[in-house]
Amino acid sequence: MRLLRLAEEWAGGPVEPRNLLPIDVRIVAEQLLGLKYDEREELREDSTDPGRRVVVGKLDRETKTITVSGRQSKAARRYAGAHEIGHYEMHPQLVNLHEKPIEGGQQRAVSLPIEREAQEFAAEFLMPDKLVRELFYERFGRAMGPADIDENVAHYLSVGRHLVPSQVRAMEPVDRAKLFANATTFWGVHFPSMTEGFGVSCEAMAYRLFELGLVK
Ligand SMILES: [Zn+2]
Repeated sequence: MRLLRLAEEWAGGPVEPRNLLPIDVRIVAEQLLGLKYDEREELREDSTDPGRRVVVGKLDRETKTITVSGRQSKAARRYAGAHEIGHYEMHPQLVNLHEKPIEGGQQRAVSLPIEREAQEFAAEFLMPDKLVRELFYERFGRAMGPADIDENVAHYLSVGRHLVPSQVRAMEPVDRAKLFANATTFWGVHFPSMTEGFGVSCEAMAYRLFELGLVK
């Protein structure tokens, strides 16, 4: 991982990969890829025309600039930035790109293959497979399916509401994964939630946990 090498260079010694979390999108863009990385409150297709559509992110390959709309949550801004880095790295044919907001959230199926690739890139970039597994196993011990949900587990997954095991077992796997993504205590041990640790939305984290087979 190039980011790890850079961090070790700065630190002048070995760095634990987990200490890179949450992955710093700006540092990767600026220091590793030599891009300009901007956040702008008002981001439209054409900055001189206030009537034009609002966009969530922009990639301008000629000026080597990624711009992300500041009018979204921190997690969504990070995701949008990582998505543009994905296009920059994988799709040299995209020269000047404006991203429309994706209706219904980040994980909603997008039709164009390049858009899917950029979404996958962003997920892997912000939530690296190895680190997600490591932190999940550390917190919960093993992959979790419906059969693992007993009284105790349901109790630890109940953040702000009381859940009984049958409710959790009956959920769609991605919804069950949201509970694990947001959990901050398990068997009496406190920790930052996976969502917080990776600096992503609960939905993005949950989908990643599901995709990696950590929550079934
Ligand atoms: Zn895109």
